[in-house]
Amino acid sequence: TQALYRSLRDLPAQTRDGVCVSLMMNAGLATDMPSLAESGAEGVGLYRTELMFMVRATMPGRDAQEAVYRRILDEAAGRRVVFRTLDIGSDKILPYMRRTEEDNPAMGWRALRFGLDRPRLMTMQLQALLRGAAGRPLSVMFPFVTTLEEFRKARALLLRERDRQAARGRPAPERLEIGAMLETPAMAHAPDAFFREADFISVGGNDLKQFFFAADRGNERVRRRYDTLSPPYLAFLKRIVGRCAENGASLSFCGESAGRPIEALALAAIGFRAFSMRPSAIGMVKRALRAVDLSEAEALVAAAVAGGDPTARPALTRYAQDCGV
Ligand code: PEP
Ligand code: MG
Repeated sequence: TQALYRSLRDLPAQTRDGVCVSLMMNAGLATDMPSLAESGAEGVGLYRTELMFMVRATMPGRDAQEAVYRRILDEAAGRRVVFRTLDIGSDKILPYMRRTEEDNPAMGWRALRFGLDRPRLMTMQLQALLRGAAGRPLSVMFPFVTTLEEFRKARALLLRERDRQAARGRPAPERLEIGAMLETPAMAHAPDAFFREADFISVGGNDLKQFFFAADRGNERVRRRYDTLSPPYLAFLKRIVGRCAENGASLSFCGESAGRPIEALALAAIGFRAFSMRPSAIGMVKRALRAVDLSEAEALVAAAVAGGDPTARPALTRYAQDCGV
């Protein structure tokens, strides 16, 4: 199968009925970057910047960060890289920072909440990103956005830094895209302005699912208890697809589900057209997408939902098998 996946590397993830899906990869360290060419990913849909902070013994300063971001863009050789700003707290601990005791760290002082409360740290990262991307396009994505106002504050910080650097005559990124992760259920119901103001939106299915089902993603007792392909969750995700479409927002999905072929099929069937996943999953997912007729998968998902099935998984799995997946 490895040879099969390799043979698909330069082919599009196009379904039998002609729907093209964009497949990108997740990364978090410079050493992940060779996977871009090996996997045939279109770009890096989620670059988890906190990994660099987690593997070091001390906090990387602005210059060190800038050098890393520049290197990542060098290695991407013109392909898109979406840099997610620091998502620390919850399961992501920095060895050199004092831990705050929280009963529910996943729902606590983490990610953008932390960033907005520590604007110097956040600003330092934004400056490093702007400098590291001088002369090239820059995509910045904020994690764990929970209100429109949080997104606006984060965006304003980034634009302020961009303007400051321009005023000082520093070379600027050639283009700047500012996006948000949608990983709190509240944002599925955010005002239209959120979907219009974000240049792109990426569903963080790992967090979104844990909050949707109130099931801790790190707890083995409950983690697999609720199916991504159950009608309530699919209906919820479909609503997000609809809101993005109504408001002209570009949408992708970057949780672990995207890297599992049956789940990727279901997500494509409800309207997702871009995924970001671990690089080793790209061949598998591409093979599955190329084997199916998306309108048939869509009908199966709709029938399972209408029929009150607890999950669309068996029907889709059977269909994928019939298609030779
Ligand atoms: C997610 O929550 O789905 C996501 C992609 O982010 P992380 O797994 O880093 O929380
Ligand atoms: Mg997340």
